[in-house]
Amino acid sequence: MRFKHHISMRFDASMRDALAALDVDVVVAPLPPGGGAIMAFDVIEPSNEWRAVRRSLEHVDHLDMLSTMFEPEEIEGAEWLVLHGDWHNGYPVEPKRGDWFDSVYDTRARCPACGAGWFQLAPFRIRGEPKWGRRRMFQLNWVFDEIFVEPALWREVFEPAGLTCRPVLSARGVQLQNVVQLAVDERVDTREPSSRSETCTDCGTIKYEPVTRGMYPGIVGVPKGPIVKTRTLFGSGAEARNPIYVRKDLADELRARRIRGAVLEPTEPPRLPARSERH
Ligand SMILES: [Zn+2]
Repeated sequence: MRFKHHISMRFDASMRDALAALDVDVVVAPLPPGGGAIMAFDVIEPSNEWRAVRRSLEHVDHLDMLSTMFEPEEIEGAEWLVLHGDWHNGYPVEPKRGDWFDSVYDTRARCPACGAGWFQLAPFRIRGEPKWGRRRMFQLNWVFDEIFVEPALWREVFEPAGLTCRPVLSARGVQLQNVVQLAVDERVDTREPSSRSETCTDCGTIKYEPVTRGMYPGIVGVPKGPIVKTRTLFGSGAEARNPIYVRKDLADELRARRIRGAVLEPTEPPRLPARSERH
């Protein structure tokens, strides 16, 4: 695996020249009048460019959005893969009265500080039938642990794999014909994630930052179904999610069909639970 740093910072001519000398493309964008400009560029780690840039960055304020680039053999060799939407088809829509979150989830046990402790009661509402184009699955902004699919894809791939689905409603509450929500109800434990954690001072729930460097943690145990959600909670601030993991056989089928709208990244190898953890 390698890592991509997407770096943005205040415009700095000497830095731009140094990057140009390294053949790194820099995008410069002006800020409102009087505000100067910002610049952004991508650098792959490890590389000579990264070694050179890293030292200069130690002395300047910058934002580094890190992502991991997996090798094909890492993806093909994984027993379980984490699913991330790469098409975020809008936002959940509010019903006429009330908040979208309260209309979908039972939030009575939800912690207001960290967002932990909800479960789905009712269908999502979205703005209307999806404009699929060549894509066949999507996620919604704010909802990073649910996946919505074309009904034909559900019948071809997910129903034979034993999965059920839930209806999706329009803004006015009418059931949509051309989209379903995959019902991912099985929960699994994982090993400890490598990302930073915080413990909620209100409810004691431990939440991890989304993993951007390396793999999501391996599953502990042997799930029954081919798609599961982790009990391990990820997110920052009041946002919380239980990522979706897909077993290799189903992931291979989605990759073989070149299904667009979501990407699958390898997770660390699973392990069987220790005797004391079995229940
Ligand atoms: Zn909490």
